[in-house]
Amino acid sequence: MAASGGTRSELDQIAKNDNPINCDVLIIGAGIVGAAAFRELCRYKLNVLLVDANHDVGGDASKANSAILHGGFDPNPGTLMSKLNHDGLALWFAWSQELSVDVEWTGSLVLAFNESEINEITRLYENGKSVKIPVKFLGRDETLKREPVVNPEVKASLYAPVSGIIDPFQAVVALVGNGLKNGGRIRLDTRVEEISKRSDGIYVRTSSGLIRTKVVINAAGLYADQIMRMAGENWFSIHPRRGQYMILDKNVGNLVRHVIFRAPTSIGKGILVSRTTHGNLLIGPTAEDLDKPDKRTTAEGLATVLESAKALVPFPYERFTIAQYAGLRAIGSIDDFVVAHSRTMEGLINAAGIKSPGLTAAPGIAKELCNLVSALVPLEEKANFDPYFELPPILRELPYKYREELIKGNAAFGHMVCRCELVSEGEIENALKMEPPARDLDGIKRRVRATAGRCQGGFCMPRIIDIMRKELNLPYENITKFGNKSNVIYGDNRGNE
Ligand SMILES: Cc1cc2nc3c(=O)[nH]c(=O)nc-3n(C[C@H](O)[C@H](O)[C@H](O)COP(=O)(O)OP(=O)(O)OC[C@H]3O[C@@H](n4cnc5c(N)ncnc54)[C@H](O)[C@@H]3O)c2cc1C
Repeated sequence: MAASGGTRSELDQIAKNDNPINCDVLIIGAGIVGAAAFRELCRYKLNVLLVDANHDVGGDASKANSAILHGGFDPNPGTLMSKLNHDGLALWFAWSQELSVDVEWTGSLVLAFNESEINEITRLYENGKSVKIPVKFLGRDETLKREPVVNPEVKASLYAPVSGIIDPFQAVVALVGNGLKNGGRIRLDTRVEEISKRSDGIYVRTSSGLIRTKVVINAAGLYADQIMRMAGENWFSIHPRRGQYMILDKNVGNLVRHVIFRAPTSIGKGILVSRTTHGNLLIGPTAEDLDKPDKRTTAEGLATVLESAKALVPFPYERFTIAQYAGLRAIGSIDDFVVAHSRTMEGLINAAGIKSPGLTAAPGIAKELCNLVSALVPLEEKANFDPYFELPPILRELPYKYREELIKGNAAFGHMVCRCELVSEGEIENALKMEPPARDLDGIKRRVRATAGRCQGGFCMPRIIDIMRKELNLPYENITKFGNKSNVIYGDNRGNE
């Protein structure tokens, strides 16, 4: 077969100099989509390899979003997005149990404040009905009865009991952890740079060596169009749409019971007010189309977040804000998910343009990817596939009796390191030892929440660095916040005066 996606001389160069790692299916991208596909493909007798350019799993859009499991009434019926939102939501009921991922079915309210917004929620109501999602139209009084803190100028709302909230960090870690438990492999800090099809397989050149595979799944999020171009596929492009957020202290986490949205506009679902599964309050996101990736928050963006959140639920949010962040949506040049075989390279499957509700849809996308893989290689289920995964114990969630037992077994569980989130040294040690392990400060935050609280690490970060130094046997200077070039300590200045 003729080679594509690279010149003949490049391919010869690769073949001569590198001894490739072999696999049956290579997944590019360890966000929620790649992680869900990894978990599902590890059900089968296949050699599955997951790679990501980042230092940890779930490092891009899958960590910086609204963390909502969308009810499925927003995408247009008949689109792939609508189908996969629906399938994914249904699967999260089972998957969250199997993988011990925190999910709460809070329900959502989409508020309308004027005639055109009422028309918009009527459209959502019709959407919901046509795809058999339970939705209810509420008048002003019913809305205020259900959620008394919303702006009393509200005219009507759409209530969807099946919407919920999820811990997206835990979800990615659990999906990858489950895949690893079932025989999958992972390579981080591994950026895919070139893809070439040859007669004996697809060759993928990465920043950490060459991989030969039968099938490639492109789950590269914002960069999925770059991977497509590596395979000569130029019909699809992606641009970033930034969403900025403010996260508030847990003492105001219970301000709202439901996820509160405003009627959507042409560029998104608008700014929401929601609790997180950890009990914080979240407001945001903005919707800013950018020419190139830029995850910085801005004064204007945050002012928009505050103003829009106050229009939904009046509250002095600025007094309780503990952190701000921004995420980048992968906005494709067509307004639907692309989950399909490549048009140019046999063996490549694209999961591209996975904007919201990608987190909700991920299990549905993973099932669809398995169907597509089955057209290329036989899928035979492993007799010993284990669908369950449990994160190491979280001390603050355990009854006292079990806490005492843990502390008796390992005194490190009795040393409180993060006072805001009540995280012990033992839990940080576990985060560094579990599969997939935390390898940097953000990885610890995402697994056990140390540094995610009110002081944002002001108190505990030096102690965590010390634990990491001991456990990982690393010099201080090599400890990073999120991998490559994010070192937090540059040297020892004692005695250098
Ligand atoms: C502001 C915002 C709000 C959102 N809110 C919601 C919500 O409430 N509910 C919902 O359902 N969805 C929501 N979404 C959408 C959801 O977050 C995304 O659809 C989902 O996270 C996409 O997952 P992914 O795995 O496709 O991409 P990502 O999580 O971005 O993962 C892609 C991975 O690919 C890796 N990668 C890229 N290029 C390469 C390469 N060349 N080599 C190796 N690795 C590579 C990256 O490092 C990255 O880890 C929101 C998104 C944003 C940004």
